[in-house]
Amino acid sequence: MDIAWFEELRKDDVSIVGGKGANLGEMVNAKLPVPPGFVVTAEAYRKFIKENGIGKKINDILTKTNVDNSTELQDSSKKIRKLIMDTKMPKKIEDHIIPSYKKLSKMAGKKEELVSVRSSATAEDLPGASFAGQQETFLNIKGVREVIKSVQKCWSSLFTPRAIFYREKQGFEHDKVLIAVIVQKMVNSEKAGVMFTVHPATGEKDKLIIEAGWGLGEGVVSGTVTPDHYVISKNNGSLVDKEIAHKELMFVRDKKTGKTVKINVPEDKADSQVLTDREIKIIAELGKSVEEHYNFPQDIEWAVEGDDIFLLQSRPITVFYGEEKEGDTVKEAGQDVLVKGLGAAPGIGSGEVKLLFSVEELDKVLEGDVLVTSMTNPDMVPAMKRASAIVTDEGGMTCHAAIVSRELGIPCIVGTKDGSKILTDGMKITVDGSRGVVYKGITKTTKEESEKAVAAAPSRIITATEVKVNLSVPDERIAGKMALIADGVGLLRVEHIILGMGRHPMDFIKSGEEDRFIDQLSNELKIVVSAFHPNKIVYIRTLDAPTDEFKSLKGGEDEPYEHNPMLGWRGIRRGLDEPDLLRAEFKAIKKLIDENYRNIGIMIPLVHHPGELRRAKKLAIEVGIKPHEDAKFGIMVETPASALIIEDFIKEGLDFISFGTNDLTQYTLALDRNNANVAKHFTEKHPAVLKLIERVIKICRKAGVETSICGQAGSDPSVVKKLVEYGITSVSANPDAVLTVRETIARTEKLMVLDKLRG
Ligand code: PEP
Ligand code: MG
Repeated sequence: MDIAWFEELRKDDVSIVGGKGANLGEMVNAKLPVPPGFVVTAEAYRKFIKENGIGKKINDILTKTNVDNSTELQDSSKKIRKLIMDTKMPKKIEDHIIPSYKKLSKMAGKKEELVSVRSSATAEDLPGASFAGQQETFLNIKGVREVIKSVQKCWSSLFTPRAIFYREKQGFEHDKVLIAVIVQKMVNSEKAGVMFTVHPATGEKDKLIIEAGWGLGEGVVSGTVTPDHYVISKNNGSLVDKEIAHKELMFVRDKKTGKTVKINVPEDKADSQVLTDREIKIIAELGKSVEEHYNFPQDIEWAVEGDDIFLLQSRPITVFYGEEKEGDTVKEAGQDVLVKGLGAAPGIGSGEVKLLFSVEELDKVLEGDVLVTSMTNPDMVPAMKRASAIVTDEGGMTCHAAIVSRELGIPCIVGTKDGSKILTDGMKITVDGSRGVVYKGITKTTKEESEKAVAAAPSRIITATEVKVNLSVPDERIAGKMALIADGVGLLRVEHIILGMGRHPMDFIKSGEEDRFIDQLSNELKIVVSAFHPNKIVYIRTLDAPTDEFKSLKGGEDEPYEHNPMLGWRGIRRGLDEPDLLRAEFKAIKKLIDENYRNIGIMIPLVHHPGELRRAKKLAIEVGIKPHEDAKFGIMVETPASALIIEDFIKEGLDFISFGTNDLTQYTLALDRNNANVAKHFTEKHPAVLKLIERVIKICRKAGVETSICGQAGSDPSVVKKLVEYGITSVSANPDAVLTVRETIARTEKLMVLDKLRG
């Protein structure tokens, strides 16, 4: 049997149509609302492999592959996949697929219906052996030829590097795992998301979680979109908790091409609740029915199209709860919290931080390390398996890192926003995946101790020296929270936003899409500026990313190679060489000024000559910004040159300066801040660095220019103490350090007053 319709299948048919296919059959038969479709069976795949004699070739390649060697693994995968794609599908199989697709189209009243083509490996989705997300899925496929091609692509995806690696490590024989392919009517949803019928991180059985985003479900499933999060009590169906996310992006079907495209969420929908209370109720009820039907907690994908609610997929939740022993938690929790995020996979893991940003670096992660990255992707699975814990900047409960970590039983925290900025290579940390907190150090102790420490958060204290916060990723929730405890934003790094667009900024400009770039940037900046409006100033720093960071972006191929990017084409030097880009950044800021946001400071990075400040201001004026009037205008003091001739900058006209001690230390001590070999010499407390800082503060004070600090040293109490003594106007710390820094400042100020009184 090469084809089976959902109606013909039951949950026991895993060996014929894979877990996913069997589930769909079971759901259709349980009268759950599933879009119609059929499955190209595992048998069809077996025939294909056998009749063409490629099964043996595949085996030969695999026996020679050492899967722990990333390069070998990738090479073998490529060879096998090419072999499968280059082989023609036997006519017998085609003759089953074509009429079935036509029938499906006819059922929808169309000549050619859009379908999804999904892989379903035959051991897939069984508890304890989930291959979820390992094989490929193709959406919005139309026409017989395309369907057939996509089926073949699904077959070949049985041999992606990660699938091979996973089978090898889990002890599955490659030729025992077959693949079926599901062909199903596409739902063109207005809203979609996922649902867990128990709390996926804590295992609470009386709670059901729904995550929802606008448009098609891909955004939520892949973690690209931060979804609304609803918690429903399974006992009485009430909504226990909800978090309405700021939804920036959505996936929709392009009317012309039928392809899925990513677009910005219309403004009026970005902050509104995706599901109505009624829809939440219905979806939750469906979730309960599915769970009851299978008698096991389920992880379900759902979609809403018009008045219809569909269940697209359901699989058992493959998390193993209860591994965390009573009393097994972290020592001195709350004293040294480095990063917080969403506790996505329970348990505690300690080790050395390994930042991972590309597949080439996989070997860097050794057994027991903590893998820290912006977001994991499927190719990182080999390294994830070696990790004792995983921390990511992005993602929700359903992102790749969350799903895979839960499955692998590795504690994981996602959505830390800036975890990979704050955690640095080699740092020894402990990750509490249940609470979503990363602590400094590796020690463990009892539960009560940690709870006591967490409860002891310092209260709000008024200080004469202002305490600001550094923000990198504009997030409404964080910005909102920080606006309550900080006196402004001392550094908003635009490079995070810009690099996060995934496309080189000059690529936008050169292809005539400057406006898109400006709109995106402006929208992101607004998240922070509006949170601190009206009277807390946000220092927006213009782009300062070294050339190497642009390389991986679309359009970044032509970035020059530099031997030492830290001393290279970055900061204002580059901005002035590429005035179109700097102007575009200013235009994004101008948009906010035009919306009457007057709490903006423009900060120019890496200046070493007053002429740079003059030229930057000139460009700002060109786009209609009146420096000092519409927005404060200032510089980062992060080169010794700027510190030594600060008087000349003041003459040029300055509202403020901010010390970038990361760079100032690097350039004063001649130490590459990214070079671990010399890291032991790197200290902002070096007398030469402090001397430069003291000099600038004193001169600025006399001239009425505000002084601040936004380098890492601003989060170090021992440096902060000195800065207050020198007379700094404000200190900008990392979000987690704001309260501690405020305490340090309060104590220092009091001591200074006492000293004075005591003579
Ligand atoms: C600094 O140099 O201290 C600074 C805050 O800027 P960045 O770390 O982004 O170079
Ligand atoms: Mg700097």
